Amino acid sequence: MSDMAVTREVFDQVMVPNYSPADVIPVRGQGARVWDQQNREYIDFAGGIAVNCLGHCHPALVGALKEQGEKLWHLSNVMTNEPALRLAKKLVDATFADKVYFCNSGAEANEAALKLARRYAIEHFGAEKTQIIAFNQGFHGRTFFTVTVGGQAAYSDGFGPKPADIDHVNYNDLDALKAIMSDRTCAVVMEPLQGEGGIISPDPAFAKAVRELCDQHNALLVYDEVQTGVGRTGELYAYMGLDVVPDILTSAKALGGGFPIGAMLTTDKIAASLKVGTHGSTYGGNPLACAVAEAAFDTVNTAAVLQGVKERESWYREGLEAINAKYHCFEQVRGKGLLLGCVLNEQYQGRARDFLLASMEEQLMVLVAGANVVRFAPSLVITKEEVVEGLARFERAVARVVNG
Ligand SMILES: *Cc1c(COP(=O)(O)O)cnc(C)c1O
Repeated sequence: MSDMAVTREVFDQVMVPNYSPADVIPVRGQGARVWDQQNREYIDFAGGIAVNCLGHCHPALVGALKEQGEKLWHLSNVMTNEPALRLAKKLVDATFADKVYFCNSGAEANEAALKLARRYAIEHFGAEKTQIIAFNQGFHGRTFFTVTVGGQAAYSDGFGPKPADIDHVNYNDLDALKAIMSDRTCAVVMEPLQGEGGIISPDPAFAKAVRELCDQHNALLVYDEVQTGVGRTGELYAYMGLDVVPDILTSAKALGGGFPIGAMLTTDKIAASLKVGTHGSTYGGNPLACAVAEAAFDTVNTAAVLQGVKERESWYREGLEAINAKYHCFEQVRGKGLLLGCVLNEQYQGRARDFLLASMEEQLMVLVAGANVVRFAPSLVITKEEVVEGLARFERAVARVVNG
């Protein structure tokens, strides 16, 4: 194996074909820069899909990984550990929550949230209260329960019978939500800014009204902050900028800054429904993951970094508007903080992937969010020089697409 040539072709030979990765294979990263096997350098505006909140190999995270890596990696949930307790205490102190459950990914955090919501509703209001309402184009992960709650049938079809009693309405459509909500509603699940669905912000009045409807019907409000959480929108969690407090919040992606970890946060009263033995995860609360996440959390949860996200948003918006003034391909630039989307206009419908491929040619990593949105989710501490250089590369990529 050691003298085998590790090339993109090997992927097709030995990997399940559920992904179609790019041709380049990155081998190292530093800050918002990444280098591939040929030592070609890229600027990273993708951030591992909103995961690398502090860029690549941030010294605080490398330090925490090394320190904990020489102490204790794993126990099991038969015992608790210091990093998990420290991180949970910090999450509780910084948010509405009283209790934390740790797991390893966003899907697992949402799976726990959904199972908890169901148990809580059944326990307090009876066996009929099981309806879960979510939003079209929403994304909540790929376990069978979470992918069914997600609002894209294409992701959940083809696997046989689905978990039942899950309904969908359009995001920001209050009348549609009202029409299907009742005292049978167990929970409403929403992203406080739809990420995968196309970088769609909630109407502030809609967000508030969803909260009120949940209160009227004794339904839990679950905020999936897997993509928006840990500083991404310029607030520690996006709910803080909406003036709405959820009952359950899920976090992953940026929580570990690149180390797999997820968390579900809730109140004392609701948490009580996950009694001993009702749910669990072998790796959840693993000391190594929690130590890295604690370092990420300490670094991000400062006025300087959170304020810096808002400042960086303006660098991006100004740069992107200037590009658009020249090339006229975006209908609008939307999103919040460092979760931004360039929405393609009429003329470029369905071509987001072309912009992504042209960007790779120009040594820039970007994301898409559906077929019509080019998405950026860079490091929250990306430098001005990296933004300016990356936007210059993006302008050349846009020119490539526009000029055919
Ligand atoms: C990425 C994402 C998930 C799934 O997280 P995984 O770690 O891939 O399981 C869930 N919800 C939202 C909003 C996401 O962006």
